[in-house]
Amino acid sequence: MKLLEERIKADGNALNENVLKVDSFLNHQIDPQLMNEIGKEFASLFANEGITKIVTIETSGIAPAVMAGLHMNVPVIFAKKSKSLTLFEAMLTTRVYSFTKQESNDISISKKYISEDDRILIIDDFIANGEAALGLVNLVEMTNAKVAGIGIVIEKSFQPGAQKLKDLGFRVESLARIAKLSNGEVTFVNEKVEELV
Ligand code: 5GP
Repeated sequence: MKLLEERIKADGNALNENVLKVDSFLNHQIDPQLMNEIGKEFASLFANEGITKIVTIETSGIAPAVMAGLHMNVPVIFAKKSKSLTLFEAMLTTRVYSFTKQESNDISISKKYISEDDRILIIDDFIANGEAALGLVNLVEMTNAKVAGIGIVIEKSFQPGAQKLKDLGFRVESLARIAKLSNGEVTFVNEKVEELV
């Protein structure tokens, strides 16, 4: 997605060879116009998948997921990272290792919002090793609903997560695919191909 790639080039900050900071439009301050375009793009990519609900994980998956939900006209559920006193109902829980926090945490969703007839689109802001997305797949599969696709805003293609999920048979669509982070610079997968031509 050109608009997103341009924004990453302009405002993204490669902290090192593994981590990209995008605090000015996605992870802290949020650009609603860009999120709207991202939501539209996910809606168009997954238009033929019969999606009935979107599942994401708090916090940074929520903005793109809500915009996708708006354009697809389906509800959005976000997995919670901490237990809440207001959630009394039966919760499904799985353990996820966090790439950015480098610790394992339980994530949970309430059983009552997903039924076995649902076709779920999983959305997240980043994919690195695929732990968060796999955790969401686990939660959805516990409900016997079907994971009909996985939408990622920024894929770091040099890390194994996206390929891992594709190898498991999931349709993964990433709006920006990063081939390399180095010296504060971002190289996208399509740029790398162009370089070789
Ligand atoms: P994974 O579970 O695929 O290893 O990592 C994905 C999760 O870690 C995402 O939910 C995202 O919050 C966080 N993450 C992974 N890589 C990055 C990164 O380069 N930048 C930021 N801001 N978050 C990341």
